[in-house]
Amino acid sequence: MPPHTLSLPSNQFTLHGGCFCKSTLYTITVPPLPSRPLVAADDGAQIRLPRVGSDFCQSCRGVTGALMCFMVKLPQEWLSFSLVRKSENTLKTTNRTESERKRIDLPASAVLQSPSISETSNLVLFSSSPGVSRLFCGKCGINLMFTKSEGEEKGLVDVPLGTLDLEFLEGMGDGGEFEGLRPSARVVMAGPVGWINEEGAWGVRGVGTGEG
Ligand SMILES: [Zn+2]
Repeated sequence: MPPHTLSLPSNQFTLHGGCFCKSTLYTITVPPLPSRPLVAADDGAQIRLPRVGSDFCQSCRGVTGALMCFMVKLPQEWLSFSLVRKSENTLKTTNRTESERKRIDLPASAVLQSPSISETSNLVLFSSSPGVSRLFCGKCGINLMFTKSEGEEKGLVDVPLGTLDLEFLEGMGDGGEFEGLRPSARVVMAGPVGWINEEGAWGVRGVGTGEG
């Protein structure tokens, strides 16, 4: 089968997602095609952002609790957050619509530069290794962003693919104008648990049934 080529709109478009409890929502604004930077893939080819890859490393496994982690990589300036104020946590919200909940709108750069973000919102910034910041929802625990402050990937962020609203994963539009984000043909398989590449490891033989 030939490698799948990701087809995204060439005009500007937006992606939406958020944490499980919806106290943190985000918007990714992807500019028109000529303004999307190129990055080098593992095989040296140039791939235009946003790019979806997978990571099986010890750190990603540790912070997500998942054996495989798909992330969408993009420039930090494309990402902005809408955060429920922390004071809202103690209010009864059952009779209030989402739009009535008081929110703070901030670009990702402002979130990363705000040491008091956990005092005003549910977001928690965690440094998993030197120069690496990960953003979580402190209320429901979902991992929302990964970024490095140094090196080739400075200025880029990775957003866990599973936090995107479903329509951006499955696609939308009558003519298939937007097919949904999915991993590129070259998926990073660095550092997986040993058995993950074994035949049957992904359930094709009915893992867990005890039958052959
Ligand atoms: Zn949450």
